[in-house]
Amino acid sequence: MSSFGLCKKVELHIHLEGAASPEFVREICQSNSKPIPEVFDKSGNYNWQNFDQFLHTYEIVTNLFLEEKNFDALIRHVLDKQVRENVIYTEIFLGPHLWDDKPTERWEGFLNIAKKVADEYKKKYGIFAYFIIVCIRHLGPEKALEAAKFASNTKAKNVVGFGMAGDEKKFKVSDFSESFNYARKSGLGITVHAGEVCGAKSVDEAVKLGVTRIGHGVRSAESEETIVKILEKNILLEICPGSNIALGLYPSLEEHPINFLLSKNLPISISTDDPSFFFTTLSKEYEDLHNVFGWKEETFNKINRQSISFAFCEASLKEKLIQQLQREKWKI
Ligand SMILES: [Zn+2]
Repeated sequence: MSSFGLCKKVELHIHLEGAASPEFVREICQSNSKPIPEVFDKSGNYNWQNFDQFLHTYEIVTNLFLEEKNFDALIRHVLDKQVRENVIYTEIFLGPHLWDDKPTERWEGFLNIAKKVADEYKKKYGIFAYFIIVCIRHLGPEKALEAAKFASNTKAKNVVGFGMAGDEKKFKVSDFSESFNYARKSGLGITVHAGEVCGAKSVDEAVKLGVTRIGHGVRSAESEETIVKILEKNILLEICPGSNIALGLYPSLEEHPINFLLSKNLPISISTDDPSFFFTTLSKEYEDLHNVFGWKEETFNKINRQSISFAFCEASLKEKLIQQLQREKWKI
């Protein structure tokens, strides 16, 4: 394994079902004697051509994990991969409205499983796994409030944050203020996907919700004003370069603004978003950033420590993890 695989990492932006590898999905179908859905291309990878198709495929995959035993297997599969990548702290997005269209016992049941498996992996492998409940933007504000209430009621199940994913083109960010105020008042960290499909203006809108982090936010690079605003408010951008390239936001990493945003001193983190859909791993992201921008240990370590300081977990854990990262020595 390269030193990129060996170094300790922090991942703040990863969607549970987006990390289900195609092989794992086929295994689950076979073990459940279910037909394999038509979501793969000839080489066995997920088949999608644009953002809408990606969302559609994602929903089909999610539907395969609606039984408790499958959901349990999925959490283990994702954490196994993160343990292999030497992730020491992760916040995983869970979208309960993808499991059922209203709060049900299934929502509760899945969170119980998530917490149980997270505890087990902490004990066995030393990884700290926490969860962010996301509302699905295109399902609208009413559903978002249901998700915010659910998130607030499940803090004891390692839920530390509330976020929003889905189609950025649907609704206005301000339509979701009530949900985000609710989550923030109940002590959850908040983050919103913005500045990905839509431009810097969507980041400006997200900032108004009082977020401390923005999912992606890369298109902030298109506006000096937005950059200044993010710096003033001290907001971290959860950047997922491989995802942005796979979705066609940028033709290559060379043209991705991550290095520019870093040079502006914006706090950033590095994540994989939906690694199995975007043909990436966290180690690959590091390796590509090293190869293209020459980033070395110092930069990666700084980004990881910064990620921890913006994590939604309790302060004592952050301190412990930052110390752990400070002791980290790795050579590229
Ligand atoms: Zn995302």
